[in-house]
Amino acid sequence: MFKHKKIIFLTILAVSLIFLTACGNNGEDIPQAEDNVFLMDTLVQMRAHGENAEVAVEESMKRIREIENLMSKTIETSDIYQLNNNPETEIEIDKESKKVLEKALEYAELTAGDFDPTIGALVELWGIGTENAAVPEESEIKEALANTGYEHLRLNDNSAELTKAGVKIDLGGIAKGYAAEEVKKVVQEYEIEHAFVNLGGNVLVIGNKVDGSPWKIGIQDPREGRGNVMAIVDAVDKTIVTSGNYERYFEEDGKLYHHILDPKTGYPAENNLLSVSIISENSFDADALSTAIYVMGLERGMKFIENLEDVDVMFITEELEVYLSSGLKEIVEINDSDFNVIEGEKFAD
Ligand code: ADP
Ligand code: MG
Repeated sequence: MFKHKKIIFLTILAVSLIFLTACGNNGEDIPQAEDNVFLMDTLVQMRAHGENAEVAVEESMKRIREIENLMSKTIETSDIYQLNNNPETEIEIDKESKKVLEKALEYAELTAGDFDPTIGALVELWGIGTENAAVPEESEIKEALANTGYEHLRLNDNSAELTKAGVKIDLGGIAKGYAAEEVKKVVQEYEIEHAFVNLGGNVLVIGNKVDGSPWKIGIQDPREGRGNVMAIVDAVDKTIVTSGNYERYFEEDGKLYHHILDPKTGYPAENNLLSVSIISENSFDADALSTAIYVMGLERGMKFIENLEDVDVMFITEELEVYLSSGLKEIVEINDSDFNVIEGEKFAD
């Protein structure tokens, strides 16, 4: 628990350092507002520049709270709690929950189940990020695997149903991306041209910086216990979403068990990766993708991303090799010599 908090703190520190030094002189007369609030199980950090900056930040935090109230697994009045605790029953759900469940199913199909919103039974069993985290018995994994499978989630017009008792929805891999996109709508409503929001590693920037240059987003060193920035990405109207094995994990007998689970094996995805960062324009999709691509691993994941338009990816392996998709080579600057960018030949068929 303690370790987890420390890691979150370091992530935030890493990102804010960049933003603070990036604040130029030209924007000094434009009002600015910022806030940090613990929401959706993570620290949400936001800043906006503009006449309505203060109300825009306030309303954004309110939106995120509304989304949390609909999609949390633990808030008893949430749509997800109601679904999870009333199997084989059609439950009326909010249209926002429907939207996120729909997108989650779309990615489940697109990734042939590498991304699976019905991963809840396995997530609960492992308890990663909670005080009860432990390696489960083989038989328990089998049972939770039998209660995983997006074919058990049925969506209707304004209702949903889990068709098998024991199956549980978990939107931890996608809801923050949806929230980031909703923040984008709120700030646009308030005519904010320069803003960023960071939902625990799910970063979205709106416009450029007040001085007209791109935002500089720091990618955290994914090695255990290090909080520094190992690369900088120039970004205007973009999102960078990172899934890493260092975000939530525990160690048992010298082995690290992290929070991104492979729905096919029931164990944390093991593919030699420290992190996967998705860079694109839409945080909702990028969030689902970061989780899915982490499960797919380097070769399959890189191919998957190269087949999508306007989506890029950066992989970091345990050997500190960095793999960039083709759209990223110009805009990523690696500033730590421990990391080596590997050119793409390895993937040529
Ligand atoms: P984070 O939430 O730490 O930013 P991710 O976006 O990668 O990281 O989401 C990981 C979370 O998604 C897990 O904590 C869990 O709730 C859920 N999850 C884990 N494995 C999967 C999976 N294969 N498909 C969908 N969701 C998953
Ligand atoms: Mg994700």
